[in-house]
Amino acid sequence: MEERMTLRPHHGLCIRHFTGKGYSPGFVENMARVITQLHDTPEQEICLRMREDILCGNCPHNEPGGCTSGQKVRRYDAAVLALCGLEDGAVLTWGEFERLVEERILSAGLLETVCRGCQWLALCQSIYSPKSNFADN
Ligand code: SF4
Repeated sequence: MEERMTLRPHHGLCIRHFTGKGYSPGFVENMARVITQLHDTPEQEICLRMREDILCGNCPHNEPGGCTSGQKVRRYDAAVLALCGLEDGAVLTWGEFERLVEERILSAGLLETVCRGCQWLALCQSIYSPKSNFADN
């Protein structure tokens, strides 16, 4: 298995809604690569941190002084952690985190509560459908 992966908590939602759209070809390519890795290895260990992660490197909002979206994305991160009952620095598998995001945020209809103010919100709301396979596990 790959070494532990750092993920911003709200990226658990972004990954769930990714359809190949993004800020730039480089961003989309990196996002698709990371998502493929996570889907192929749900036992991948992740560390949830409210700071730059594996997806931020190719983002145009990622500047030397930090994320230009600033407090907004920290608010998304904090909401995801609180709703999932986790803390900054939590270590778990991708599969565990994906299940928490699904059950406590998406199935509960709380996407807009977490992501209000994101430019992609309407798109993400339009493509969400519950993951039926979680009910079988
Ligand atoms: S609305 Fe924005 S922050 Fe929320 S999942 Fe979609 S892209 Fe990510």
